[in-house]
Amino acid sequence: MSTMDHDSKAEEPIQAPFLSLLESGQFSDLKIRCKEDEYNVHKAIVCPQSDFFGTALNSVGGFKESKTNVIELHEADPAVVRAIVQFLYRSDYQMDPESDENRTVFHVSMYSAAEMYQIEGLKSKALRHFESRFSKFPDTSEPFAKIVEMVYSSTVDHDRSLRDHVARHVAQSFDEFRKSSELSTIAEDTPGFARDLSYALHDNYLQQLKVLDKLEGLEMTCPHCKRSQFMPIRDLLNNTMEWCGSCHKYKYAQAWTRY
Ligand SMILES: [Zn+2]
Repeated sequence: MSTMDHDSKAEEPIQAPFLSLLESGQFSDLKIRCKEDEYNVHKAIVCPQSDFFGTALNSVGGFKESKTNVIELHEADPAVVRAIVQFLYRSDYQMDPESDENRTVFHVSMYSAAEMYQIEGLKSKALRHFESRFSKFPDTSEPFAKIVEMVYSSTVDHDRSLRDHVARHVAQSFDEFRKSSELSTIAEDTPGFARDLSYALHDNYLQQLKVLDKLEGLEMTCPHCKRSQFMPIRDLLNNTMEWCGSCHKYKYAQAWTRY
């Protein structure tokens, strides 16, 4: 999905001149440091997009960052900080092409960093990137268990976006996923996932019932006299006794065949 598809204000593309400001460091009034890396950035660009940085830099006599104009993020992963800075100037980010880290895992890290540094636009961008990669499961060799575990360990219970996407996608392709023994291991290790998956499967079931209700019924053939009559879908699902109007015998609905 492209940036143009949604209307979040923070995700409107920032003009190219701002990107050149990042590259040149011109007019920079703030440094972001992470281990060996240092970025010369601009408060006017960074603060409106991040409540975390905004609060740290605007506080009067509070955080030391508002005096030093340096933000130290040494606990963070340098690749994540690099992508955050990139996002702040161009409304999107890319993983370092030379990195051998798993890409889907990286988007989970970006989502979780966006939550920590309160960058709403980055959160929805990371979610989009995550969704498009996670939707490829189970037809991918990526570490499914690790990704699910990470989604549940790096987000809180009420932060639903990543978790709901995982549970819904697994529920939708459940027949495929259940072929792997990995699924039951994850469900045992990650109770939150097991709970969300059971709700998602039930939602799917209700959805299917709604579709079936629209069909109302099918023309079915009596196993005795081979004549046909209309049978409601609910009777077929519940396998109720059906009375044949032609031969006047009762047979379980599922013993009848499609006309
Ligand atoms: Zn009959």
